[in-house]
Amino acid sequence: MAIVKLEEIRNFIDISPASEMLLEKNEKEISFSVNFKTKDNEIVFCDAYVVYHNVVLGPAKGGIRMAPNVSLEETRRLAKIMTYKNALTELPFGGGKSGIKLPDNKDIDEFTRIAIFKEYVHMIREELVAGHYIPAPDFGTDQFDMAVIYGELHIPECVTGKPVKIGGLPGRLEATGRSVATSTKLYVNDIMKEDLKNIKIAIQGFGNVGRWTSYFLYKWGAKIIAVSDINGGIYNENGFDIEKLFKYAPTKDITISDYPEGEKITNKELLEMEIDVLIPCATESVINKENANNIKCKVIIEGANDPVTEEGDEILKNKGIEILPDFLCNSGGVIASYIEWRNAKSGNQTEKEDTFNEIDKKITKCFYKIKEMKEKLNITYRQTATILAVKFLIEAMHERRWI
Ligand code: NAD
Repeated sequence: MAIVKLEEIRNFIDISPASEMLLEKNEKEISFSVNFKTKDNEIVFCDAYVVYHNVVLGPAKGGIRMAPNVSLEETRRLAKIMTYKNALTELPFGGGKSGIKLPDNKDIDEFTRIAIFKEYVHMIREELVAGHYIPAPDFGTDQFDMAVIYGELHIPECVTGKPVKIGGLPGRLEATGRSVATSTKLYVNDIMKEDLKNIKIAIQGFGNVGRWTSYFLYKWGAKIIAVSDINGGIYNENGFDIEKLFKYAPTKDITISDYPEGEKITNKELLEMEIDVLIPCATESVINKENANNIKCKVIIEGANDPVTEEGDEILKNKGIEILPDFLCNSGGVIASYIEWRNAKSGNQTEKEDTFNEIDKKITKCFYKIKEMKEKLNITYRQTATILAVKFLIEAMHERRWI
């Protein structure tokens, strides 16, 4: 779902046929193969993609996804979400994304990973050196993979999400979770007129986004009563001590459903729980036509990209469950990437708290812009955020004389 169809917002904004074409058609798609040898001497061929959706605002920016279910179609959809995310937050980046489709059931050890990313750079070196595409971590990739990319290029601004010691940004690791948590806080305080400490929250996914979202919300007094990863979840009606849970599962490789201070639940039970705020932070399409009718929360804060399908979105709308869209809530990652890129070019350094402050400032500004327009137009948050992003893109396309 993520982005609403342009026909849904046509009553509120003038979109010429040329603008529509430029917003619907990808500017560039690169398909290639990343081939490598495993430690057992097996040769593996992986399909890989880079998609530039619309780069009117600047170079294509978006993370690298690495998983068995990666596809060109998914990479296209995610590149489009990046265009809207960058436009909504007014960053000087276009929408891009990259995907590496891993084979099923392959154990990828550290050395194989390094080989994958060296080969990835080799295949798209010109795009990266020219700064036309600037990767970052996404589902299935992390700061150490970005360090390998940097090691192959030695150009600091060519990749973001690097470890702090090699030019990464203090706070980049936590940045996406920070913006998801800030979006949650704004909604709870300003729309629900509640204090975070009176709110019951469930978070699906305990990887980069889920764990840092839970951390900040916990620190701000919220009760996180359920969390999960791909193997299942845990429930504690009194709320988890998230710092303790961090110590139990310092990386996403530890199965959190084995944590002793909670009752085991399934991901289905977590999503369908009677709670105030549901924050899906795992993967796409987890709320869909099969389960949307069973969702009982008051609001969904989209931490993951595209966690609600189009059919799911429609069902939730009819049930009166509001959704704050991904391209607002999880934009902390790209906001931090922008600061890292800016510092790499200028030589400036930023303290962690300043990273968080810059993210909070941008999210807060966007949240109130969306809120104000939504109240006037009486449409969904997703539709309103799309109008604001599309308006910004059309204006920029005018300025560049594309239209
Ligand atoms: P990650 O790989 O660090 O963690 C993913 C987590 O989700 C893990 O805990 C995993 O066990 C769990 N998971 C995976 N599939 C699941 C399923 N089917 N059901 C339940 N749990 C499942 O990934 P991440 O970086 O945290 O990204 C999560 C989502 O957030 C993705 O949609 C990604 O595109 C989006 N996102 C990430 C960033 C970022 O900076 N990392 C930025 C913006 C958006």
